[in-house]
This record gives sequence, structure tokens and C-alpha cells, in this order.
Amino acid sequence: MRVGLTGGIGSGKSEVARRLTALGALVIDYDQLAHEVVAAGTPGLAAVVHAFGPTVLGPDGALDRAALAATVFADDGRRQTLNEIVHPLVRERAAALAAAAPADAVVVHDIPLLVENGLAPAFDAVVVVLSGTEVRVRRLVEQRGMSEPAARARMAAQASDADRLTAATHVLMNDGPLADLDSAVDALWADLRQYVAGR
Ligand code: ADP
Repeated sequence: MRVGLTGGIGSGKSEVARRLTALGALVIDYDQLAHEVVAAGTPGLAAVVHAFGPTVLGPDGALDRAALAATVFADDGRRQTLNEIVHPLVRERAAALAAAAPADAVVVHDIPLLVENGLAPAFDAVVVVLSGTEVRVRRLVEQRGMSEPAARARMAAQASDADRLTAATHVLMNDGPLADLDSAVDALWADLRQYVAGR
């Protein structure tokens, strides 16, 4: 079963991914894959350097993420070029990981920009984690050390909850204690297992 998991920054998506892993899901972390495909020595990194020049490399030959971010920031064309290099490599890695899973596995694709990139139709179920704006800002400031303006800017650059809800087959509300989120994920897991058993 192919499950998409998404949620705005600070919503609790990573907590849900952790819990689903503990319950037995195979979680594929697209952020992690996006790092792996441009790791030192990869063809992906060579393509990035070819596109943007050696200034995006640090002295150790690894990608200088801050330099790359500065290069593509506020330039749609450059950002698109970067996406055209990274996205196919990530998709290829994710497909290989999913193909290696057993037939009855619940494979969860953890994708921050699932809705923004129009990927919902590719999944049997789309799980959206939702939290109120102020709760998310507080988490990002208190637990991730972001400044409040930076947290609000990141949130404003992402899809709205209304757009995420349109894509969702399952919604997890995460405004309460973590124990409540765990219970909601347990119920979700039971539902996903039932789907797999009924196929
Ligand atoms: P996301 O992956 O959606 O950006 P995280 O799952 O990393 O968000 O959550 C952001 C921060 O808030 C983390 O430090 C996480 O442990 C914390 N957090 C998430 N949900 C809750 C909750 N219900 N109660 C308290 N802290 C939470």
C-alpha cells in the first residue's frame, strides 16, 4: 500500500512518521533522500555543480547548502533547475526502496511538499497532519530554535491547510498532547492495515 504523509512545518509530521515506523510501516523520508542524492561524490552533486558552478561546494568537496540556498533563493528559474536535478533522483530512490518492500507492507512516503507538488493522486491514502498556526509557531520557536518571523515566513511559503485538506484521505489533528497524537496514529494504523488485508 502506498501512503503519502504530509503536513506544514511544525505540524508534527515527523512525530507521526516516527510512530508509524514503530508500528511497522516502511517510512521513506524524502527530505533525507534529497540530501543523499547530492552527497559528496554522487552524480547528483556533479549535476548541481555543473548547473550552478563550484561556488556551491565547500572546501571539503561537499555541497555547501547555505551557498546553494543563497543561489536559488528568490530565483524561480534556478529553483526549478535545482528541482529538475534533485526530484527525479529522489523519485528513483524512493521507487527502489518501495519496490524492495514486501507485498503487504504499508509504505509511507513522507513528503513535506506533497500537496504543493500535486502528488496526491499517486497514493492509495494521503495522511495530512494539522495543527493550529500559533501552536506550530510556538513549537518551531521553542523546540527548533527558529525566530518567530522565520517560522511565519516558512509557513506562509507552503500550501494552506485548506489545500492540504482537499488532498487528504486521513486527517490527524495535533493541537493536544503527544499522547493524543499517538492514539490517533494507532487508529490510523489499524485502518491502513485493514486496507492492506482487504485488497
Ligand atoms: P514537522 O515534522 O511537521 O515539522 P515535528 O514532528 O518535528 O514537525 O514537530 C515539531 C516540534 O514539535 C518537534 O520538536 C516535536 O517533538 C514537537 N511536537 C509535535 N507534536 C507535539 C505535541 N502534540 N505536543 C508537544 N510537542 C509536539
